[in-house]
This record gives sequence, structure tokens and C-alpha cells, in this order.
Amino acid sequence: MANVLILGGGFAGVVAAESLAKRLGSDHQITMISRHQEFIFYPSLVKLAFGQVDVADLSYNLREAMLDRRVKFIEAEIAYPDPDNNCVIVPHGEVQGKVSYDYLLFALGRHLALEDIPGFYDHSHHLLTVNAALKFREALKNFHAGHAVFGYCQDSRLAVPVFEAAFALDRMLKERGEREQVTITIVGPEKLSGQLGGEEVVPALQQALADHNVEFVAEFPVNKITEKTVFAATGKKMDYDLLMLVPPFGGPGEAQYTGITDPNGYVRVDRHMRVTGAYRMYAAGDCVNFLGPKMGHMAVLQGMVAAANMAAEIEGQEPEARYNHELMLVIDEGGKDSIYLQKPLWEEGEASLKQGRFWGWAKHVHQKYWQKIHA
Ligand SMILES: Cc1cc2nc3c(=O)[nH]c(=O)nc-3n(C[C@H](O)[C@H](O)[C@H](O)COP(=O)(O)OP(=O)(O)OC[C@H]3O[C@@H](n4cnc5c(N)ncnc54)[C@H](O)[C@@H]3O)c2cc1C
Repeated sequence: MANVLILGGGFAGVVAAESLAKRLGSDHQITMISRHQEFIFYPSLVKLAFGQVDVADLSYNLREAMLDRRVKFIEAEIAYPDPDNNCVIVPHGEVQGKVSYDYLLFALGRHLALEDIPGFYDHSHHLLTVNAALKFREALKNFHAGHAVFGYCQDSRLAVPVFEAAFALDRMLKERGEREQVTITIVGPEKLSGQLGGEEVVPALQQALADHNVEFVAEFPVNKITEKTVFAATGKKMDYDLLMLVPPFGGPGEAQYTGITDPNGYVRVDRHMRVTGAYRMYAAGDCVNFLGPKMGHMAVLQGMVAAANMAAEIEGQEPEARYNHELMLVIDEGGKDSIYLQKPLWEEGEASLKQGRFWGWAKHVHQKYWQKIHA
């Protein structure tokens, strides 16, 4: 019998747990430890901030969902894994102390490095957690005139919600009859193509920005924020009345000082999703050291590959499943021109770009699908 431990109840952890439960017999024990009982469908946090959905629409109870798949769920805080001793240190929660494993999947996501930008905590909104999105929702209710600045910082590995939020603000203000009183600007540390897969997406994005009367300011790497002004490392600055930024990302704090991270703090894995230098340990999702954007569909594929290889090892076979890094994104523009891009990141190949109402709708359906299928 193998004792498989999964750390984290996000996209990667949930998909891996489900795959393992399907493949392994009931004589093996699968346990998931996560901080909260709820799974959150993060791509819908923009809709939450703009009052289009409520928390119940984008979450479900993991304990119940995992029980149905005979995965034991434990609500607890993880301090760090100890790969040399095949255990995980759990300071508090439903269990405490050292939890041992035969096979481990590390899927704790990334760290939001708000502390890297002086003034971020005090002056900027973000929408990367439920509470932050709800706080931003309150600010939006009280915002009627002035300059709205949205953006992503250097090392933020996620630009999609910034564009979606700017387009949603445009629509909300038009509905309220207040659009004339507001200027909307997006700032980014590099060119428009940077975090969004390259030049292919630029014409469609420029059209969407023009349609929504949103200005994009490139090469604005935010490095300081005060009560009324946001500053860039290039010396530029911009006054704002409402500020929402995606903070820099960093590797998961729980993996630091364990000898399994790259110089940026992300967990080092090979294409089989095995942690390099650690025995019977895998990692998947935002926590791993692959370059480029950090997205949910990547976490899902990586979770599947990790699960297939763990199961193979448990069954005495070679781990053969390999992950292929590709970008797939939908920018829900809210109207007829939502943008879909698919592009290989490791291999040569054409990008596929599509536009139309269907893609925004498909993203919404995806949220419903996760709630229905996985709950
Ligand atoms: C606003 C927003 C919009 C997005 N839009 C898109 C999009 O349009 N398309 C797309 O593909 N992706 C999108 N993403 C990215 C996507 O949500 C992430 O890539 C995905 O959630 C990563 O999955 P993960 O399993 O690696 O990590 P997470 O989903 O972050 O899960 C990590 C899990 O670990 C738990 N955890 C963390 N630390 C601890 C600890 N110390 N102890 C116990 N438990 C812990 C957490 O509670 C969580 O359950 C968006 C994200 C956000 C925030």
C-alpha cells in the first residue's frame, strides 16, 4: 500500500487527486492537505469584483468532493516539506506535527510578493484572493470620477485579469452613465505582447483597448506607490484615483530553504513533473520553475502528468508521461470580441488566435463545469 500526500487544493492538487483516485486501487491511501476547505475558481474573481457573481458561484466544498473520490481531506497549514525524511511539517490545523508520506505532490501555488513594492499594502488594490476582490468591489462601488490605473508589476506572471478588469470597468461606467468622467489606463513592465504570448495577440488587443477607450502604457515597471501616485523604475510616474495592480509573484514560501528551488524560489521539476534532487516527490502548478505566464490550464495538465507518473511508479513502472508547456488564454472582453490564444511555448509551432462572443461564454461555462464536475 502506498501513502500519497497532496499539498494544496487548487487546480493542480484537485486534478491530481482525482486522477490518482481513478487509477489506484482502494488499498492505496490518498490524502490532501490544504489551508481552506473551499476550492476557488480564480479566473472568476474579476466577475466577483464587478458584482457579476457571488463567492458561492465560484467555489465548492473540497472535503465533500474529495470524500466522494475516497481522498481524505485535512484542513491544515503546511510549514514546509522535509524531503530527506519523507514528511511534511504541519504547524496547525486538523493534524499537527510531522505527516509522513511515500509519495508527495507539492501544489501550493505561488507567493504574492506585495512586500517587494513599497506602498503596495497601503495604497493598491489587487484581485488575486477572494477577500482582495471583495475589497476592490467596495472601492468600485464608490468610484465615480477620476483616473483608474490598472496594471501588472515586474515578475507578475498573470496579465489576463488586468485587461478583463479594465474592460469590465468601462462597461460598468457606461451602464451607470459615468464613463465620460473617468480615464482608464493599463500599465505594464514591457510591451503589450509581453505576458500574453507574443506579437500575434497585439492587433486584437489593440482593437479591444480602442473599443473600450483604455490607454496602455508600456515599459512602466512599478517600483513605488504613494497615496495618489504610482512610480516606475524608469523614472515615469502617474497620478491615480483608483489603483489595481497584480503584484510580483515569487516561489512558494513553504519550499524555501528545502533545497528544491531555483534561484527565483520556484520548485525545480523535470518534464515528468518530478522534483529534481528529491526522492518520490513531484510538483505541479504555479509553484514550479517553468518560464512564462502562470495559468490554470497549465496547472491542470501538470497535475495530470504528475499523477500519471506517481501512479506508474507505485505500480512499479517507469514514469513516462511528459508535460508540454503551451499557452492558452481567453481575455473575456465582455462583448462580441473576446480573444482566444493558443501557442506552444517549448516547441516550434503556429499560434492560434480566435475572436468572438463564444470565447467569453466558454470561459463562463468552464467555471460552471468545474463546480459541477468536481464538486
Ligand atoms: C484573478 C485571477 C484570474 C485568473 N485568470 C486566469 C485565466 O483566465 N486563465 C487561466 O488559465 N488562469 C487564470 N488564473 C491563474 C490560475 O488561477 C492559476 O494558475 C491556478 O490557480 C494555479 O493553480 P495551483 O493549483 O498551482 O495553485 P492555487 O490555485 O493557488 O492553489 C494552491 C492551493 O494551496 C493551498 N495552500 C497554499 N499555501 C498553503 C499552506 N501553507 N498550507 C496549506 N495550504 C496552502 C491554497 O489554499 C490552495 O488551495 C487567474 C488567477 C487569478 C487570481
